[in-house]
Amino acid sequence: MTRQILNSALDAVGNTPLIRLDRITKAEGLQCNLLGKVEYTSAGGSVKDRIAKRMVEEAEREGKLIPGQSVVIEPTSGNTGIGLAMACAVKGYSVIITMPSKMSLEKEAALRALGAEVVRTPTEAAWDSPESHIGVAQRLQKEIPGGIILDQYRNVNNPLAHEFTTGPEIIEAVTSTPSTSTAPSSSKVDVLVAGAGTGGTITGISRAIKKTHNPDCIVVGVDPKGSVLAVPDSLNTADAGAEYIVEGIGYDFIPDVLSRDPKDVDSWVKTSDEEAFAAVQKLMRVEGLLVGGSSGSALAGTLRWLKSDEGKKIAQTKGANVVILLADGIRNYMSKSWFLKLALEAEPSPLAKQISSVLHKS
Ligand code: PMP
Repeated sequence: MTRQILNSALDAVGNTPLIRLDRITKAEGLQCNLLGKVEYTSAGGSVKDRIAKRMVEEAEREGKLIPGQSVVIEPTSGNTGIGLAMACAVKGYSVIITMPSKMSLEKEAALRALGAEVVRTPTEAAWDSPESHIGVAQRLQKEIPGGIILDQYRNVNNPLAHEFTTGPEIIEAVTSTPSTSTAPSSSKVDVLVAGAGTGGTITGISRAIKKTHNPDCIVVGVDPKGSVLAVPDSLNTADAGAEYIVEGIGYDFIPDVLSRDPKDVDSWVKTSDEEAFAAVQKLMRVEGLLVGGSSGSALAGTLRWLKSDEGKKIAQTKGANVVILLADGIRNYMSKSWFLKLALEAEPSPLAKQISSVLHKS
């Protein structure tokens, strides 16, 4: 690809790298390849930039958005909001984002910096109550002239953005990288693992892979304990109603775009906050990847699945490609206590002790 001048930030959405996670693979004793699809390099910092761009551009094509008049209103855990606020900054639309209170201050700050209005809603409000981020968005849309909800939970352009961009990028990277003796590859996407919020990412990528590349690819969904998205439902009952800190994945209802079509997602795993944050630390410390909380869930879910009866054959297959969707970056979460704990309260390293003894020599 030749480098050219881009027309706007929107041209820097997506087109993200697929990176080998060799140090984790080795430490876990795996024979397969673990490959991270690293979405924080997208212009707005997450996988959700892609759907924001597509939902805005398709609404424009359909004549639903009018510059200077339309007010884009969207309930989101933050990242779709950042993508929308970025698109609307470039295109000249006003934006209101409704977001549960548990979501990070960093996301709110980015949204406000991009010119969006932000309304916080109680995290504990049920999705269909008037107080939830969805309910508040609907109330605002009824009253605010020009208000329009693009609705990531139902908009076909959410999964389509991934079917047309994220999926093909993964397929291209895997098929165009030669297999070598030091890095053997099946040249196929054998497994895809992704967390689900709206479900647009996992269903869209799954369709791209299964329709155009490898119908036998195993697609594994990751759902936090306390959420209801996993299938079968019995997976969700043990921790029903439990709170989880990880942001962007899990819900208390099944969004329309997560069709639960058994063809899209083959298997589900449930993950805890603790294992997700430990996995984030591993991705930072040994792979140098500044990923966010749900990326940790995706890695933790992958390792859990590879140890299961269903996954253990792939785990020991040389060259099998296991692609893990790493949805956003740690800069979204730097004020969160879980991050501060793992970054600043770690046991002092031998080097830290050495520094201290050098500096405090009397
Ligand atoms: N991780 C993060 C950090 C997110 O913001 C989202 C979007 N809610 C997801 C994962 C899940 O993406 P999707 O909504 O496409 O299922």
